[in-house]
Amino acid sequence: MDYFNYKKNKLFAEDVDINILAEKYGTPLYVYSKRTFLEHFHKVKNAFSDMETLICYSVKANSNLAVLNEMKKAGAGFDIVSGGELYRSLKTGVDPKKIVYAGVGKTAEEIRYALKSGILMFNIESTEELKAINNIAKAMKTRADVAFRINPDVDALTHAYVNTGKKESKFGIDIMMALNIYKSAKKLKHINIKGVDMHIGSQITSPIPYINAVSKIARFVSELRRENINIEYLNLGGGLGVIYDEEKPSTADVFARAIKPHIAGFDLKIILEPGRFIIGNAGVLIGRVTYVKKGRTKNFLITDTGMNDLIRPSLYGSYHKVIPVNVKKSADLDYYDVVGPICESGDFLAKDRHLPQMEAGDLICVRTAGAYGMSMASNYNTRPRAAEVMVDGAKHTLVRERETLEELTAKERMIK
Ligand SMILES: *Cc1c(COP(=O)(O)O)cnc(C)c1O
Repeated sequence: MDYFNYKKNKLFAEDVDINILAEKYGTPLYVYSKRTFLEHFHKVKNAFSDMETLICYSVKANSNLAVLNEMKKAGAGFDIVSGGELYRSLKTGVDPKKIVYAGVGKTAEEIRYALKSGILMFNIESTEELKAINNIAKAMKTRADVAFRINPDVDALTHAYVNTGKKESKFGIDIMMALNIYKSAKKLKHINIKGVDMHIGSQITSPIPYINAVSKIARFVSELRRENINIEYLNLGGGLGVIYDEEKPSTADVFARAIKPHIAGFDLKIILEPGRFIIGNAGVLIGRVTYVKKGRTKNFLITDTGMNDLIRPSLYGSYHKVIPVNVKKSADLDYYDVVGPICESGDFLAKDRHLPQMEAGDLICVRTAGAYGMSMASNYNTRPRAAEVMVDGAKHTLVRERETLEELTAKERMIK
């Protein structure tokens, strides 16, 4: 579900013609629909409204301050994975007691920053990290609130790079080793045990992996209780999938209904960390065709956007729908590879797509680019990162200026 639709053969973002946005702000351009991501946020919220639930939007999916600020206004907290994301989150004025901090490699500096900021809790991913946090909290004469991220050893049935809950993954603490770490944490003076955490992967379309994981985690919580280790929070992570192509992801309601029977009766506060589900379909990437290159075996739409703006096709082989911004009813269809200008064969956005015949100057729209798009963008080939615009009804606001070449070189120094 989203609010990018054709009206009279022109693609609109909510009530704004995308041609006007491309004209005004240039391309490549990320366009976000506020109505779309707020509706997704409320879908998750409503699905769990019968339980005490904190929704911590996963900042890494799309960390633009304007997006974070709208999420905060809607009542969300934040799931962060770095000091940088903590900094961004705090800029919105969010209550730090709505921030949870995951990640396998938190540095001492980041841990101090989070302790000083008074976040809700760390999601600890190893014994070594537990020791580090206890020592730093001691030095700061405070106590750290923590949960442990449990690796339940389930297959999230998703792309290998975003499958995070199998025992061979670097993430979380092996469920077989977890009881011992809780017992040792209980003895530490500068640690408050607050919860149990899991995050089994991303772009998960079926509730089955959650059911497998949550039922294991529920048994584990019972074990903790037998050991008199009491927790207050159960963090189920993120991972709900969206539609890129022909996927049929379960709705937030279906996920919630499948999960709830396994956690009912524990009287725990629930934390959820959706990222992609909220912002994925709420963003598109707009590019302009520079050349139509006709080869002997292939036609290429060479556009002004590519892997530095959206790396998902190159990195994961991800599918994104590519559609023309302006419908050409009479045009014949042709097969195209939609590619960027970058000097890498991996620089493609889409392959073998049946599109109306395109010409230089035409605008293309890459759909479902709101999550892990701009947040993974780079300056490769010394390309300034794209501008970002947020649409709200008929209103559009530039929420990130296009970078300039001067900015790209500003921190570099030549040696005389
Ligand atoms: C990336 C991440 C998320 C969000 O995942 P989505 O698939 O975007 O919902 C949530 N929690 C943690 C710990 C993450 O690393």
